[in-house]
Amino acid sequence: MNIHEYQAKALLRTYGAPVSEGRIVLKAEDAKTAAGELDGPLWVVKAQIHAGGRGKGSFKEADAGEKGGVRLAKSVEEAAEEAKKMLGRTLVTHQTGPAGKQVNRIYIEAGSGIERELYLALLVDRVTSRVSFVCSTEGGMDIEEVAESTPEKILSFSVDPATGYQPYHGRRVAFSLGLTGAQVKQCVKLMGQLYQAFTEKDMEMLEINPLIVSDSGDLKVLDAKLGFDGNAIYRHADVAELRDESEEDSKELEASKYDLNYIALDGEIGCMVNGAGLAMATMDIIKLYGAEPANFLDVGGGATKEKVTEAFKIITSDPNVKGILVNIFGGIMRCDVIAEGVVAAVKEVGLKVPLVVRLEGTNVEAGKDIINNSGLDVIAADNLSDGAEKIVKAVKG
Ligand code: GDP
Ligand code: MN
Repeated sequence: MNIHEYQAKALLRTYGAPVSEGRIVLKAEDAKTAAGELDGPLWVVKAQIHAGGRGKGSFKEADAGEKGGVRLAKSVEEAAEEAKKMLGRTLVTHQTGPAGKQVNRIYIEAGSGIERELYLALLVDRVTSRVSFVCSTEGGMDIEEVAESTPEKILSFSVDPATGYQPYHGRRVAFSLGLTGAQVKQCVKLMGQLYQAFTEKDMEMLEINPLIVSDSGDLKVLDAKLGFDGNAIYRHADVAELRDESEEDSKELEASKYDLNYIALDGEIGCMVNGAGLAMATMDIIKLYGAEPANFLDVGGGATKEKVTEAFKIITSDPNVKGILVNIFGGIMRCDVIAEGVVAAVKEVGLKVPLVVRLEGTNVEAGKDIINNSGLDVIAADNLSDGAEKIVKAVKG
């Protein structure tokens, strides 16, 4: 689960991290008051969306102005003006995709003078199974470019969970970033605060880009992106409260209400599968036969008819879906329950695309009977590759 920059900064502030004063604005008419509560001479007006690259992004609407989603203003009036131009408009960045994201919240911040822009992240490294620090002197807006062309400029090391964070970790970050004197001390302190926040709040990712050396020589968190482990959210009511559902994929949101493991993808074949491993194999074999999966969906082991019906409805609501492959290996999951769910869903929402069903395992005959007697136009498949071949053929001809 991700949160907005202004929420991330407020959270990091509670751990003592240095962040600027700021105000969140939801309505254009509040922008001037908000900016007026902050000291000048510089104000930064920032679009709040769950995507990076805002500074270099652009708006779809002409009346939003030529500039991106992060704007500098020299007066309260100018800050309010820029906030008004961005609110309600659609910001497109390299992370939003071409559809962009509507800007519903604006963060106005007291502007900082910048000496240097650095990069810092903490993340869970799946190779070492540890929390890793990642840092680079090349902070600012193009870290992807740095990773691509000059990877040697990015330093990364992990922290042993048995010792946890130690000051030498912070010094290692400080020296690799070329910090000196009092900045080293600040860095050791800040890295400790960030590590504590990361572990206490069960984060998956914490990215500060840029971490700056201000014109007064102090370290400051200028941008903050936090991602939390969804499986641990139940332990953090304060974090759960920060969820902004309008930023999430509507199909994934719907799926989460029914406790379905669903991830939207860009392909044309909708998949309904039980078990994450079988779902992965199904996606692979669809690709092997020359098509792309439209989603990952694991309906789980003990899914009810209602859950299966919802899952099917979510798949058919995706306009990119040109065909559906139901691939069930009934172990705990019963094939007749899946069949009942599919039939119920089709009766409710109709079926406009080809449907291939492969059932195997517990109650398979009962399941097949339900499908065969339903009057639905279903293509039966005998095994995984047969199913994939048939649905790709039905879609691509
Ligand atoms: P992003 O583009 O979504 O990553 O948004 P950021 O918050 O990182 O802002 C993009 C860029 O705007 C930063 O890299 C800075 O160069 C600039 N910027 C942001 N805040 C300030 C500020 O307080 N003062 C100045 N001078 N520039 C800023
Ligand atoms: Mn940034």
